Amino acid sequence: MSENLKAEQVSLEAKDPFELRVDLGQHVSETDVHRALAGGDMGFIHSFTTGSTVDGPGVRVVAWLTGCQFRCLYCHNPDTWRMTNGVPVTLEKAKAQLRKYGHGLKMMKGGLTISGGEPLMQDRFVIKLFTAAQTMGIHTALDSNGYLGSRLTDADLEKIDLVLLDIKSWDSERHRRLTGMDIDPVLNFARRLSSRRKPVWLRYVLVAGLTDDLEDIAQTANFVASLGNVERVDVLPFHQMGAFKWKQLGIEYKLQDAEPPSKETVERVCAQFRGEGLKVY
Ligand code: SF4
Repeated sequence: MSENLKAEQVSLEAKDPFELRVDLGQHVSETDVHRALAGGDMGFIHSFTTGSTVDGPGVRVVAWLTGCQFRCLYCHNPDTWRMTNGVPVTLEKAKAQLRKYGHGLKMMKGGLTISGGEPLMQDRFVIKLFTAAQTMGIHTALDSNGYLGSRLTDADLEKIDLVLLDIKSWDSERHRRLTGMDIDPVLNFARRLSSRRKPVWLRYVLVAGLTDDLEDIAQTANFVASLGNVERVDVLPFHQMGAFKWKQLGIEYKLQDAEPPSKETVERVCAQFRGEGLKVY
């Protein structure tokens, strides 16, 4: 499999994931995409970013993978939905990239976070890269919507030190309207992580009028607290930084008039999670 010229001209490192990237793997044949997904020796990567302090403990390198089966109304990175928008990168090249950061990451008590898109669309590549990271002594964190958690064996889970799990809504109807997909596989993965005592940070994107329902959040907070393995909750106020991508990709964007949630709403939602005994940031 060869990476196309356009992809080779693009730096794997980005300032942030808000760079619009499209069609960088479009010349990879369908057969090679399937082979890559089955074996994990090739991944499709939107970009690597460095210096994050919000995607896991310490200072992180984040690999943003392409491919996602959700269609969240508030998605900030719709260019990550299609796998072949990403740069095709061999596992060896990704490991070499990681090795460059290895010493600094250990010094700063950080690690590698794999995000997306939805990284478990490329579960074999993710596990192989995490295995390499752990061999280098680098902490590993998976940022996932959880829907494909059943793809991971118990042995795979050992390669993940921390899961950053998104729960988008407790209410199944609302979840489907918001993401296009069912909530049950996400909750099942959350329960499985709990039964294995795997550390989890919960991420909750807060959009006024969409994910700020009092009862919905009360149920989410109650469930999350009952798991016993959620170390912290990050309430992430919606913003419009990804809006330009929807426009440039020609996808209908329903939140163009949505405002970030008010300070009062953010405080109320944080208080709801705190009220269940959870640490909230
Ligand atoms: S799960 Fe994440 S990447 Fe996928 S559509 Fe939702 S916000 Fe976007």
